[in-house]
Amino acid sequence: MTGKSKIQAVRGMVDIMPPNSRLWADVEARARAIFSSYGYSEIRTPIVEPTELFARGVGETSSVVEKEMYTFVDQGDNTLSLRPEGTASVVRAYLESGAFNTEPICRYFYIGQMFRRERPQKGRQRQFHQIGVELLGPDSPLADAEVIAMTAHFLEAIGVKDVAIEINSIGCKECRPKYNELLLAHLSSHKDSLCGDCTRRLDKNPMRTLDCKQERCAHVVLSAPRMAEHLCDSCRTHFDSVKAALVSAKVDFIVNERIVRGLDYYMRTAFEFTTQKLGSQNAVGGGGRYDGLVEELGGPHVAGVGMALGFERMMMLLEADGVVPPHGGGVFLVMLGEAAQNMALSIIQPLRKMGITVEWDYAAKSMKAQMRHADKAGASRVIIVGDDELAKGEVMVKDLRDGSQVAVKIDKLEAHFSA
Ligand code: AMP
Repeated sequence: MTGKSKIQAVRGMVDIMPPNSRLWADVEARARAIFSSYGYSEIRTPIVEPTELFARGVGETSSVVEKEMYTFVDQGDNTLSLRPEGTASVVRAYLESGAFNTEPICRYFYIGQMFRRERPQKGRQRQFHQIGVELLGPDSPLADAEVIAMTAHFLEAIGVKDVAIEINSIGCKECRPKYNELLLAHLSSHKDSLCGDCTRRLDKNPMRTLDCKQERCAHVVLSAPRMAEHLCDSCRTHFDSVKAALVSAKVDFIVNERIVRGLDYYMRTAFEFTTQKLGSQNAVGGGGRYDGLVEELGGPHVAGVGMALGFERMMMLLEADGVVPPHGGGVFLVMLGEAAQNMALSIIQPLRKMGITVEWDYAAKSMKAQMRHADKAGASRVIIVGDDELAKGEVMVKDLRDGSQVAVKIDKLEAHFSA
């Protein structure tokens, strides 16, 4: 011991260690495969962006931008932030690359870290991961329905169960301002009953009160005017079409009028994937249509719809359902004696080049110790290399699943494992 103090990870930021990291990699691979099958391509954007991007792209009145961003001034006096979400960066990259000029429809998915300085608790971290998609171009309700159906498909494929899909329409530039006035009038007359955040945001963003988790606000909302009754004809038609498309795709959903995205450029469809299994952090993912965002970030009018899933919350649900990380090792090499040690790499390298996972201990420890390690690594077979076998140009291959054992000539080992 040197006596030096240990350095710990930043509060709310968590290491993803093996064997869990194998389950993460599996889920990522499924995301890549499934989203690709809908024509989506991966996009990787920087983790650090100009703070202005999020102020405009996420909204200055959102809690995320108001109080949760990791913001700093760099040596060149640029005000930068760690990204708190993915959509603004994707739209920035879409504009900066000029993709909007050449591709009428762009489909992107991303997987990566996000940063919000929230109070850490179960299902809520300061560094967390999201898997998200953005579909830029189509304003068709079929696009909204497909994003929802694809998310449901993905969650089902990875084994996440008991997730409800809650959808709503929050109107558009035409109908929402009028609704907001009615809502504001109602909320103002109950101002004393609202929580501090809702009171403060009342003028800029009255719809935020609709999804406030505070009991007192929920109570005021009960008697508030309903957006559903104030949608314009085109928003109503759009919402009806989204619902019809989901029904025809056999995707179950419920309408929840308290699902809102309180920012100006979010419009029409808003949705959440929720669960009862994670306590107060009940959203596994969410998304919606944001036809005004590309313009807000300096581009032309382009429609868009997207969603983001919280990776940690998906993993918590999988864990709760007993899904375990896949085994890492296919084969384990057990070496007995120096001659075996000298031969080891020449025996296992050809197998690895065939794509077979081979683990070992790097030293000829006791047979018992190596077998214990093989078991821990989840190996299904071991190759035992000892002096007697080597003298005959052989190794023993033992199947740990049924205990059977065969001698295999070293020069036939690749054929044996490819059978
Ligand atoms: P949002 O971008 O706020 O709509 O979040 C999308 C999803 O990301 C949520 O439904 C959560 O699953 C996840 N998420 C958001 N914030 C956090 C956090 N602080 N820690 C863990 N997961 C989060």
